[in-house]
Amino acid sequence: MKTTPDALAALIGQRVDLIDTPALVVDLDAMDRNIQRMADFARKHQVRWRPHAKMHKSAELALLLQQAGAQGVCVQKVSEAEALAAGGVLDITITNEVIAMPKLHRAARLATALASRGGRLGVAVDSAEGIERLAEAMAQSGSDAGMDVLVEIDVGQGRCGVPPGEAAVALALAVARHPRLRFAGLQAYHGRAQHFASAGERREAIARTVQQAAHTRDLIEAAGLPVPLVTGSGTGTLVNEAASGVYGELQAGSFLFMDADYARNERDPAQPAFEHALFVKTQVISVRDTHAVCDAGHKSHAIDSGLPTVAHLPADRALRYANGGDEHGILYAEGDKARLPALGRMLWLVPGHCDPTVNLHDFMIGVRGGLAQGVVERIIRVDARGALS
Ligand code: PLP
Ligand code: MN
Repeated sequence: MKTTPDALAALIGQRVDLIDTPALVVDLDAMDRNIQRMADFARKHQVRWRPHAKMHKSAELALLLQQAGAQGVCVQKVSEAEALAAGGVLDITITNEVIAMPKLHRAARLATALASRGGRLGVAVDSAEGIERLAEAMAQSGSDAGMDVLVEIDVGQGRCGVPPGEAAVALALAVARHPRLRFAGLQAYHGRAQHFASAGERREAIARTVQQAAHTRDLIEAAGLPVPLVTGSGTGTLVNEAASGVYGELQAGSFLFMDADYARNERDPAQPAFEHALFVKTQVISVRDTHAVCDAGHKSHAIDSGLPTVAHLPADRALRYANGGDEHGILYAEGDKARLPALGRMLWLVPGHCDPTVNLHDFMIGVRGGLAQGVVERIIRVDARGALS
């Protein structure tokens, strides 16, 4: 039977061992500590933080982060923005290019709706045509609500964005010519650098990124246009952008849950010690001589950034998760701790990549009091699940 919202709601107040498997579970105490660490970090560096909600896709978590001091959310898609706005999030930046006219009309409508509630919508651009399309959609909406527009520069990722320098100046000036568009600054995100294993390599990459962003900002200001903000950064490099004096806002999202991929990389000593807070609860359904099998495969967790690790084992056990297909995981006992888990045993997997893992689930089950003895406190809806447009 598919787990229904009612069945999940009935879990509230129940012990963690009653959660059926596989299930996506949030350790709420660990998540709260991550939020506090991030809030303290941002305060210390006097930067705003606007966590990327492409990761959690939940209005409830977005509002929780805002209560802790976050500025609002980043999203990647118009439909994500719509889903979070419906859940009460009012300050939203789409850190991505939007080109299709129907999407731009939706964005214009959303900007109007958010402005009427005291909020705002922002979007990134990297082409003159994109700016013209956005301006046309805003003009057709007839609303006086403006749209914040960030000019995206490519600071090393090789994805969207114009090259730093004169190309960005031309776009910034083009934005400023449209009455309903507000030039809001530069979007400068180096996604590849987030996942460099060495802290030194990340530092070097972001040093170049910061230089390019500062140079571009100075050129735009020399052309007579103030640059209110440089925004970007992620969980892997936030220490570098935060200390730059150039970035005014951090977009890191994964710090909230900390996936296995991020945990594998060398931690910069200045980076807050974020903990794993997102788990797939799974059960051992078969034990053979050589291995055990659990009921979570890659329909439960994304494997694009590597396989899950097995957490919260007793000190005398170590298990390696191997791919068993979309419905199974194969577990091998590691080294001298060569004991397999018993049939029926519950295990906790740390997903390799949190964002696409969350997108596989309708709900996250929030547990308070630890994963061994805790109770289910709340069911967190993945409001923007499947919101890809
Ligand atoms: N900003 C942008 C534009 C992104 O695409 C992402 C994630 O891919 C982030 C910020 C957040 O990065 P992370 O979740 O790795 O902290
Ligand atoms: Mn990610």
